Amino acid sequence: MSGADGVSDEKADGGDATDDGGGSDDGGRDTSAGGAAGTVPDGDDWRATLAAAGRLTPDAVSAIVDEHGDRGLQAIDAVSESRVKQYRDFTVVVGFSDEYVVEDGGCTCKDRAYNLDRENPDARCWHSIAVEVATALDRVDHHDMWYSDVREFL
Ligand SMILES: [Zn+2]
Repeated sequence: MSGADGVSDEKADGGDATDDGGGSDDGGRDTSAGGAAGTVPDGDDWRATLAAAGRLTPDAVSAIVDEHGDRGLQAIDAVSESRVKQYRDFTVVVGFSDEYVVEDGGCTCKDRAYNLDRENPDARCWHSIAVEVATALDRVDHHDMWYSDVREFL
C-alpha cells in the first residue's frame, strides 16, 4: 500500500516578499563646503555637561577648569557661595572687593576690559562664567528689587 505520500507542493518559488533593498538614498550630500570637519566647537562642552548633570559634577568642574583655568575655579566658588544675583534689572556677580554687572556674556570688570581677548568669543572673565554656571544649575540668587537702587553705595 502506498501510503499517503504527503505531496505538499508548496510552491517553493522563492517568492520572498518584495525586498527591494530600497537603498537608493541618492547619496547626494556632498556639502563639504567650508565647515571644519568633525571638530565640535569646544565652548559649550561644559555647558552641555552641566546641563545634563544638573549639578557640579567632577566632570563638569574639570571641563570648566580645563577651558577657563583659574577663572573657572573662581566662577565655581562664586556659584557655590551664591554670589550670582539676579535683580530685576541686572545680573550681578559679587566679587572680592566689588560687584559686577554681567550682561550677555559681557561684564563691567577690568579683567574683561583689559585682559581678555575680545576677538575670542570663548574668552570670559570669571563673572560671566559664574553667571552661566549658575544659570545652568538654577543656582542664581534672585532678588526682587532693582539693582539700580541697591548699588547706590557703589
Ligand atoms: Zn567680569
